[in-house]
Amino acid sequence: MSGAADLPVPEALERIKAIVGPKGFIADAADMAPYLSEERGLYHGAARLIIRPAATEEVAAVVRCCAAARIPVVPQGGNTGLVGAAVPPEEGNAVVLSLGRMNRVRAIDPVDFTITVEAGCVLADVQRAAAEVDRLFPLSLGAEGSCQIGGNLSTNAGGIAVLRYGNARDLTLGLEVVLPDGQVWDGLRALRKDNTGYDLKQLFIGSEGTLGIITAATLKLFPRPREVETAFLALARVEDAMTLFAWARKASGDQLTAFELIPRLGLEIAMRHTPGVGDPISRPARWYVLLEISSSQTEGGLRPALEAFLAEAMEEGLVQDGVVARSGEQAQALWRIREGMVEGQKHEGGSIKHDVSVPVSKVADFILQATAAVEALLPGIRPLAFGHVGDGNVHFNLSQPKGAETRVFLARWAEFNRLVHDLVRGFGGSISAEHGIGRLKREELVRCKSALELELMRKLKRALDPQGLMNPGKVLAP
Ligand code: FAD
Ligand code: ZN
Repeated sequence: MSGAADLPVPEALERIKAIVGPKGFIADAADMAPYLSEERGLYHGAARLIIRPAATEEVAAVVRCCAAARIPVVPQGGNTGLVGAAVPPEEGNAVVLSLGRMNRVRAIDPVDFTITVEAGCVLADVQRAAAEVDRLFPLSLGAEGSCQIGGNLSTNAGGIAVLRYGNARDLTLGLEVVLPDGQVWDGLRALRKDNTGYDLKQLFIGSEGTLGIITAATLKLFPRPREVETAFLALARVEDAMTLFAWARKASGDQLTAFELIPRLGLEIAMRHTPGVGDPISRPARWYVLLEISSSQTEGGLRPALEAFLAEAMEEGLVQDGVVARSGEQAQALWRIREGMVEGQKHEGGSIKHDVSVPVSKVADFILQATAAVEALLPGIRPLAFGHVGDGNVHFNLSQPKGAETRVFLARWAEFNRLVHDLVRGFGGSISAEHGIGRLKREELVRCKSALELELMRKLKRALDPQGLMNPGKVLAP
């Protein structure tokens, strides 16, 4: 960055206000506040203005002004992210560009099995729009009532059905992006096959708003499941979970939709803090698997297949006990255990989090080694290893020892991260399976990526955003 900006900042801000009109910006301090911090309370920023454009052309015109005046731009969706990526820097020199008003479904095509939506569409609304034409948009996660598709794509969100349908990256056919200089790239193609050189959309997916602003996307739809079977299984050993997974996958073809690992502590936390959640199985076990299979056909074949599979798994000693949901309500009650565990952890004192992945075959080894390592470092620590283990994704969260002082425990965040992430690297894994890097893992990224990978990332950043104005200080350190 050198030389003076072409446009003085105050003039740029006035122009921006004129571009988006009175409904398109927030300048009042109290109204700005929700856009300046995130739910966990780890990051608080400041901004010159919150901008809420209503159309792609407005986004482009705003970004051109920002580029001319060298104003950093922080794209923001539902602000549900877990790594501080949508929070503006403390300096207060940036603007937040919130996509929430761009929430139209532009097109939906049941023959193409595609939907084209603006970036500010809330995920649950995209799911509903697909259901209205008897199709499934399979991306599903805890924040779906408030996160937006632009945020989901920018973080390459995963969730509970990745096993069957892939993550946000796999669900995207085309993108419309406003580049850091204000040009609009119209890449909204609905093609299943397109081998015409570099796949540019993939650059923007998962880049956490550092390369441009996604304004719309064309996404894949699927046939809607007609039959869904859900089971909650008790296991004696975590090692058995991954053997069971391989069995289940083989036995159910591509009908295995979810395979979630839950430790005993997770069930206990859910029971302690979620009204109406009880133990579905009479005898306590050390580990549980919540499993879902689904089919778009209605021949009624799923239940007998699942029951036969379970009988065999119990005979082999892989599963100690289990229940199969008899109704939609019972299935929901089983899923409430999964949700209640995550929510309930907030009431168990401080927790140090790891969102990691290892090859599927290494999940149990990783959990056992990581548990031993953290228990050696702090006796009494309560590891909660859960997650989408069918994707090799473990949320290795560490609840503070009972009676410990939260502040003292949380002060050791970096120390535990280092220990766990080093183990993850030993297994050839990743330090962020789902939530991204943002501010939270920026320094760990430098430790965990090779010098060549980091340099390639910096080169891409410089090529697309030479002024360094797009969500600065996120993913890559300035
Ligand atoms: P924000 O938080 O607003 O932004 C996230 C990042 O994207 C920021 O870097 C921001 O700058 C950028 N961004 C936002 N919109 C745009 C845009 N239009 N163009 C360019 N950049 C943009 N994740 C999973 O993968 N699996 C889970 O199972 C899962 N469960 C969750 C459960 C809960 C309760 C919560 C709170 C989060 C969970 N997450 C999960 C994380 C979730 O994926 C993210 O919170 C969500 O995808 C972010 O969407 P958002 O609209 O809130 O984006
Ligand atoms: Zn998750």
